[in-house]
Amino acid sequence: MPTYQGNTTTAMTTQNFPFSLALVSIISLVALNFRPIEPIVPILGFHGILDTKSNKTLSPLPPEEMHYSKQELEKLLESLIINNYWFLSTEDLYNFKLTKSQKIPAEYRGKKPIMLTFDDGYKSVHTKLLPILSKLEIKYGRKVKIVLFINPSRLAQKAISSKTHLSCQEIREGLQKGFYDIQSHGLNHKDLTKLSRRELVHELLKSRSILRRCTQDLDPEQKVASHFAYPYGAYNKQVELYVSRYYLSGYLYNDETLNYTCKHNAYEIPRLIVNYTKSPKQIIKMVENLAPISNEACQ
Ligand SMILES: [Zn+2]
Repeated sequence: MPTYQGNTTTAMTTQNFPFSLALVSIISLVALNFRPIEPIVPILGFHGILDTKSNKTLSPLPPEEMHYSKQELEKLLESLIINNYWFLSTEDLYNFKLTKSQKIPAEYRGKKPIMLTFDDGYKSVHTKLLPILSKLEIKYGRKVKIVLFINPSRLAQKAISSKTHLSCQEIREGLQKGFYDIQSHGLNHKDLTKLSRRELVHELLKSRSILRRCTQDLDPEQKVASHFAYPYGAYNKQVELYVSRYYLSGYLYNDETLNYTCKHNAYEIPRLIVNYTKSPKQIIKMVENLAPISNEACQ
């Protein structure tokens, strides 16, 4: 039932309507022209995955303290899918956000961008997370892309299979299925700021060549190992300079977010630290609360 309104009010509202519409349009145009707003891209930094179903009360101890619960991660991913998130690859971030060399395809416009990264090449990503990604793809028809920053020193020893870290074959499997974005985290996970130039170049080049050799036939455009995450997030001007010679961008591990509206150094991409202490609800709240940014915020 419509509520009663006096004749005078109705008449005024009708008369003022075109004016109000014009005013709103002008304000919107001004806002669009002078304050372009872009959503912040939260980049979440995970490590390995723990199955917490068997013992929920057990607090993971080092080195597992950096890992995340499989059950909680499934809840988080499902929630991100339902809330219209777009899971960026390192190439997406580079083309659409950092360099803006390509326009965002229509299918992603209006979606909320996020990037999920997993460091150190833990086997649990493959054994515990990949089945969840396949399950969610069947359920929602959405492919959740995850970025793996890998230290490939272990991949070189093909004969010895590791119980804790990914093999070349496993990397290939996730890449072939379209879930993995395989990138470099240095050859041996060394603090690059403490190396000689020769050792530094070796860490950067050898990791790239091993990862590309492993995925050669599946990656004709050599997108694998084009981006780099500094081990321990440790970098300085020399490290940054050498990384920039062999990689398109460099990722930190500093619990910060990036303002993509402003000009930004592609070799200092911040990431948010995620471990088992943060629940899916807290993570969703954290990423939803990142306010859109305008040019005015640039320094
Ligand atoms: Zn690492």
